[in-house]
Amino acid sequence: MKTRVFSLIILVTGMTLVFASCSENVNGLDDSSELAMIDEKSSEIAALCGNCDFSGTLTESEIEGLMVMREEEKLARQVYIFFFENYNYRIFNNISKSEDAHTRAVLHLIDGYGLEDPTPESDTEFFNPLFNELYAQLTKKGSENVVEALKAGAFIEEADIADLRKLLSETQNEDVKRVYGNLLRGSTFHLRAFSNVLKLRGESYQPTILSSEEYLEILNAE
Ligand code: ZN
Ligand code: ZN
Repeated sequence: MKTRVFSLIILVTGMTLVFASCSENVNGLDDSSELAMIDEKSSEIAALCGNCDFSGTLTESEIEGLMVMREEEKLARQVYIFFFENYNYRIFNNISKSEDAHTRAVLHLIDGYGLEDPTPESDTEFFNPLFNELYAQLTKKGSENVVEALKAGAFIEEADIADLRKLLSETQNEDVKRVYGNLLRGSTFHLRAFSNVLKLRGESYQPTILSSEEYLEILNAE
C-alpha cells in the first residue's frame, strides 16, 4: 500500500501543465442525467455495509488496508469539497457526498472489528503523511482551473479503483469484500462521470494509473 500511495505522489508531482484550460463557464452541465445518477447511487451506497456481521477475522495486512482506505476515501471527499467551494460545480458536491458514505462505511468496519480509527478529527488532516501530501498537491493542482480539478478527480478515482482491486484480491473477509466491492462500483461511476464531463468540455483524460485498456473497459461498462 505504501508503495502505491507513494507512487501517486510521484505521479501528481509529475503531472504536466500542457493542458490548456477552456472556458470556465460551467452552465448547462448541472442537470445532466449522469449527475442525477450519481445522486441516486450515492444514497444507494449509504447502505454499503448493511449485512456486515463482523464475524470474520482480519489479518494485519487487511487491517492496514482498512486504515489506508479510511483515509483514501476521506481524501477524495475533502478534495471534492475543496473544489466545490472553489468552482461551485455540482459534480464535486454530488461525488463528495458519495465519498462521505464511502469513508463512513470503512469506519463502520473499523468500529465493528474493534479497531481504532486512525484519522484525525480535522477534516483536512490525515494520520498517514502521504495523504497530507496528496491533499496539498491535488488541491493546488486543481486550483489552477476547473479542468485541472476534474482531472485531479479522475486521478483520485483511478487510484481508488487500483487500490480497491488490489485489496479485494488479497482479502478473504466477507464484510471487507462487500464494502470494497461497493466502493469499487462507486469509484467506477465517479471515474466515468469525471471523464464524461471532461469530454463535454472538449478535454480528454489520459489515465496515469490504470492501463488504457482498463480505463476504456470502465468507460464502456454499463
Ligand atoms: Zn470512494
Ligand atoms: Zn469516488
